Amino acid sequence: MLLLIVCAAPWAGAEEKTSDYFQSHAVFVDLDGCGDPRAEEFCKFLAVDYRPWTQEERRRVREALDPVSSAPKLSVLISDFKKNGIKEIVFLRVYDDQDSAGSLVVNDRLFIYLRNQFFTSKSMYGTWSEQSHALAHEFFHAYAHFNAPQSYFSDPFWTSLAAATSWGYPMKTNANIVKSELNAKVRERVSLCKSGKFQEAAALDLEYSRPKGFPSLYSMTQLGEYFAELGSFLAHDEDMASALKPDVRAWLQEHQLGSLL
Ligand SMILES: [Zn+2]
Repeated sequence: MLLLIVCAAPWAGAEEKTSDYFQSHAVFVDLDGCGDPRAEEFCKFLAVDYRPWTQEERRRVREALDPVSSAPKLSVLISDFKKNGIKEIVFLRVYDDQDSAGSLVVNDRLFIYLRNQFFTSKSMYGTWSEQSHALAHEFFHAYAHFNAPQSYFSDPFWTSLAAATSWGYPMKTNANIVKSELNAKVRERVSLCKSGKFQEAAALDLEYSRPKGFPSLYSMTQLGEYFAELGSFLAHDEDMASALKPDVRAWLQEHQLGSLL
């Protein structure tokens, strides 16, 4: 009972700062496969190899979370999680070599699962880490979950963003993207990363995507990823805002995200 009161104290505090909220609501859950009862509802979505966290992995996630939770530009986003009743941001360790991170909101919990690549990716974008970028990216997916409850084929949040950024039905196509060219650039970027040339990979990425008005190569793959990349880069990269077209800036203002500019 005492433990419950102690645990609930930061959540109940009216004066709690949004950065404190992040720190006090980020929990690491150790799972040993889908057989663990705590994984049950989440395993319906993603049945993979869950493992307990190592101390070093926890330390690295905390380190990456710091710039995210302390970034003033993210306060709107963090308040939005609080407003939507998120009680915990649950970090799960998924042991495989697919992708880097993913997220899902189940009831009042935001689950963020981090895979092997999350820990091996090297920083490409200057002073903040690839890991901070990946975490902010997942937080923006969660923001979209609350602010666009319907699919992006019909929700005004998505259709208005699509209009501002030239995405057309079925939203995976964009008038400003030549798919074959994009795929070739993505392959080139992956190969640079594999040979440890991270600065070159970042340069290739941004030199191609930014003049076309996109945050990154990955943001050119579909509208949902565009939004998550847009938010993450606006929070961390001071060159992002000036690369945006007026329609996108207007869209951000209309959706209470003007503080990111
Ligand atoms: Zn994503």
